[in-house]
Amino acid sequence: MSPQAAMSPLARLARPEIVALKPYAHAAWLPSLTRLHANEAPWRPADDRSEGGLNRYPEPQPQALLERLAEVYAVPARNILATRGSDDAIDVLSRIFLRAGQDAILQCSPTFGMYQVAARLQGAEVIDVPLERANNWRLDPERLLAAWTPRVKLVYLCSPNNPTANLLDRAAVETVCDALAGKAMVVIDEAYIEWTTQASATTWLDRHPTLAILRTLSKSHALAGARVGALLGHAELIEIGRRVIPPYCLAQPTIEAALRALAPAEVAATTRRICGLLVERDYLRAGLAESRLVAQVWPSDTNFLMIDSPAAENFLRAAMRGGTIVRDLRAYPALSQSLRISVGTRAQNDALLTSLEA
Ligand SMILES: *Cc1c(COP(=O)(O)O)cnc(C)c1O
Repeated sequence: MSPQAAMSPLARLARPEIVALKPYAHAAWLPSLTRLHANEAPWRPADDRSEGGLNRYPEPQPQALLERLAEVYAVPARNILATRGSDDAIDVLSRIFLRAGQDAILQCSPTFGMYQVAARLQGAEVIDVPLERANNWRLDPERLLAAWTPRVKLVYLCSPNNPTANLLDRAAVETVCDALAGKAMVVIDEAYIEWTTQASATTWLDRHPTLAILRTLSKSHALAGARVGALLGHAELIEIGRRVIPPYCLAQPTIEAALRALAPAEVAATTRRICGLLVERDYLRAGLAESRLVAQVWPSDTNFLMIDSPAAENFLRAAMRGGTIVRDLRAYPALSQSLRISVGTRAQNDALLTSLEA
């Protein structure tokens, strides 16, 4: 057997220099001992309210955090890489798999902009298989698979999708995963899954060594400012990811904030807040649908609404005059009249709706 054939499917897809990379040896993490091995200052800075001490390097891939994420995401801790938001996970995947001038990603536009930015930073090509607007942004698995070539290393599926707000059909996603097993990393971005009753794709990880799932604490856990996300995948992917990610990537206040957000009582409170926001989404939808500036409010499986407005400029101006900023999506070729509105509190949603009447 050739050495190539003896490699795992994952190691065959990854950049050979990353598979061979000897990782940076960071200072040992032995918290019971006095730390005179990392050139840290022995005093705390003024106003340091952290538990761990800001004078200390944080624990790389903190075990307590991995264990809480494992519990909440229902996957073993060895299948999790803690990242600085999922943007960081996208960057890690790009650096593991994409070689300049040789490799490519597949994505389904209109979708999250970071996939292609990370690919282009790496010098890789972006192949686009647009979602079907006429079918509420449906994913066509046959068209996607027909676009695959051996140069494609990462296939991004965002479900629910940003900015179109819809879940992708689970059977279609599974078809893609099965067909591309061993041929490309299928990356399912589940940044908004908490707003749905859809099961996570984590249950497919066992049979798919080339599947990766992105989760984040930025949205439903209300921690966008802390920067915490997770890459879920085969243990071999996580091991390679640990070599690529900077050793002290999660700051101590971030680790502590994430642990507080993932404590069982807080997770239960989050579930209640999600239910409340979904009620608020219906309220905002109804209000927007009545506005003469709005032609269509698209169905949503997320905490935001995408609307089409032939008078988008007027909408933006009226909202702005009322003190609200919404996202202009008109730079997307398929979204020449579209705006994206995050669901806020009742007071915020009312302020927006009132400003549209003016
Ligand atoms: C918001 C969002 C993320 C989360 O990014 P973070 O880096 O975790 O804040 C990931 N994917 C999509 C599609 C998003 O909309």
